[in-house]
Amino acid sequence: MIYLDNNATTKPVQAAVDAMYRYFNDCYFNASTSTAAFTGADRPRDEAAMAMAVLLNAEDPACFIFTSGATESNNWIFAALTKASQRGRIIVSAIEHPSVSEPASEIASYGFDVMEAPVDGQGVVRLDDLADMLTADTQLVSIMAANNETGAYQPIKEIGQMLRKISPAAIFHTDATQAVGKFSIDLQETWGDVDLLSFSAHKFHGPKGVGGLYVRPGIELSPLLLGGGQERGLRSGTTNTPGLAGLTAAARSVDLLATNRIAALRDRFEERLTMALPVTIHSAAVPRLSNTSCFSINGVLGEDLAQDLAGAGIIVGTGAACSSGATKPSKTLLAMGVDYQTANGTLRVSLSSLTTPDEIEAILTKLIAATSASRPKPT
Ligand code: PMP
Repeated sequence: MIYLDNNATTKPVQAAVDAMYRYFNDCYFNASTSTAAFTGADRPRDEAAMAMAVLLNAEDPACFIFTSGATESNNWIFAALTKASQRGRIIVSAIEHPSVSEPASEIASYGFDVMEAPVDGQGVVRLDDLADMLTADTQLVSIMAANNETGAYQPIKEIGQMLRKISPAAIFHTDATQAVGKFSIDLQETWGDVDLLSFSAHKFHGPKGVGGLYVRPGIELSPLLLGGGQERGLRSGTTNTPGLAGLTAAARSVDLLATNRIAALRDRFEERLTMALPVTIHSAAVPRLSNTSCFSINGVLGEDLAQDLAGAGIIVGTGAACSSGATKPSKTLLAMGVDYQTANGTLRVSLSSLTTPDEIEAILTKLIAATSASRPKPT
């Protein structure tokens, strides 16, 4: 199998698998009992908080609350807002993952004034438009750090600075699910204005079903789940010790230097693709994730091509890769002004440090063959 859908999920590093095995097999005890210090079950959570604090340069490991992943973290923020008494403006970008955009639409029905910040043709939030939307009563601004489909980076530092000037009371959330482990994040310096940050371990070679939310000191969120009082009373439920041990191992294994090699492979892929086929590469003119290539091939249905490739053992993503089976064109691409037909011809190839030059050769060969077969012959 040639796996080129790493923005959907990644292969766990062996260190994560080994760490999880230990907490399934040997140290399977409850982390919240008074004996946890003796059994060692209290360790994975503390170690995970420390590993995330190091990876994101957070001021304090106590800022991390662990959840089942970014979907839960993102939903939590909106659910917490509905419990707070005030109603006010909420701004999300037009290219957010559904785990942000859907809760945002939902709370609009509770009386919040929800607005969508538009993006430009490269899929980057328009700062001028965002500035115009900010008001004194803005409660929350949620802008993802890097888009899951195109990889386009969003100007998180600039948005944070703008917010502090225009809407100092607003909470600034970034869904950094695609960013963590792919570029350097610094919650004390460059991203010092970010209040909340969501992540999922399986996007950086950790296990599925575990992730979290960074909560800057001073930001109050009402609890997501009530019960046993785990996660400082904010998210009850027996601690997922194997998952957290896996997350820790993955966070410690992040190697940002690998991004240079990955970028070189991705660039070579795009160069060859552009020479061989009539393609449009999305967000190519702006800084983007070094592993991501999102492109449309004229006259081809992305979904059909992805099926063809899968039949040949090559796994890639299509327009809306996160919602499996989706046949609607990507909302992100439409927000960028890409026409419906082009958006439907989109594939997303996302590499990882495990991707080899031979795999890139193999997909290029298959893509060119499959596309020539399916495109109408000139008459
Ligand atoms: N946000 C973004 C940007 C994502 O790409 C994803 C996963 N596709 C999520 C949130 C949700 O992550 P999870 O499925 O791990 O909860």
